[in-house]
Amino acid sequence: MQTIYRTFFLLTFVSLVLFVIVFVKDQQFQQNPLSKEILQELQNKEQFLKNKIYTIYNVKVNFPIIIEDQLPNNLYGLASYKQGVIKIFLNKKRFQENKQYMIDSVLPHEYAHAMMFYFGDFTKTNGGHTKKWQQICYNLGGKKCDRFVDHNDILIEKLGGIY
Ligand SMILES: [Zn+2]
Repeated sequence: MQTIYRTFFLLTFVSLVLFVIVFVKDQQFQQNPLSKEILQELQNKEQFLKNKIYTIYNVKVNFPIIIEDQLPNNLYGLASYKQGVIKIFLNKKRFQENKQYMIDSVLPHEYAHAMMFYFGDFTKTNGGHTKKWQQICYNLGGKKCDRFVDHNDILIEKLGGIY
């Protein structure tokens, strides 16, 4: 009986310690900016996308990329057009579990939305996931260029009203 009790106590204790470690790590992630490594990878990808755009469309673009922790959980990224300014938002919370997905899939997906705005195409058909958008997304080497998504990740505000 003693052994069983001890084993049980030990297991409970170990679980508790692991729980605290996970909790503390989670808190640290939420309160700190993304690591230098992730930011560097993001920067590399951004440069890759800009080069692609220059090669294919012969234009130089520079959309601010904002790491945002106020986006809803189910939204990985967002492309916005507000009074002539195009911005890309990436959900910080989503970097914790899958940074590669954020960099290789979400960023090109949002970049393609930003390019649509750049070209003056503000269609909201299918949440902006038109064939034209998809072609840009593929051109940028995107891995998440599915036209049939269940979310809306574009925000268009022109001269006061939201389209
Ligand atoms: Zn989208």
